[in-house]
Amino acid sequence: MERRMTGKQHALGHVLLTAALAFVSLIVYQPISWQSFISLSGIVFFGVLLDIDHISFQQIVDLVKMKKDRLLLGAPVMGWTNWLHSWQALLAIVCFSLLIMNFLPLLSFVLHILLDGANKCNLVYRTSPLATTIHPFYPEWLKYSFGPEDLEK
Ligand SMILES: [Zn+2]
Repeated sequence: MERRMTGKQHALGHVLLTAALAFVSLIVYQPISWQSFISLSGIVFFGVLLDIDHISFQQIVDLVKMKKDRLLLGAPVMGWTNWLHSWQALLAIVCFSLLIMNFLPLLSFVLHILLDGANKCNLVYRTSPLATTIHPFYPEWLKYSFGPEDLEK
């Protein structure tokens, strides 16, 4: 059976994973210092806000023209690269984590990419290099797609 997940459920997955990590960070690093604040910001950014790079120029055009139906689909644009979902970003985040000597932001990023990687839409759009690379290694029962219409394209 085809496993479905809506964009909203997928986003909620990112939010819940990130919230869990942020919670751990708040408990482990008391009292709150500059270092733990930067780490917390990293967790939130790499866990959820990372997806700002799904916003392509086409979607900005849609936003300006208020084409709501297409925006809600989050319709990825062929040939677009989500640089925050690439090896270069991974490398940058490893450096960031080393610099602040805290690996929770890196873990947050890895969890984000792992969730994205199970999405079958990666095989169609190929906009997120890391997620697309790891997708074939997922067992079938772990994979999901946003809908059959995504795979027909
Ligand atoms: Zn993502």
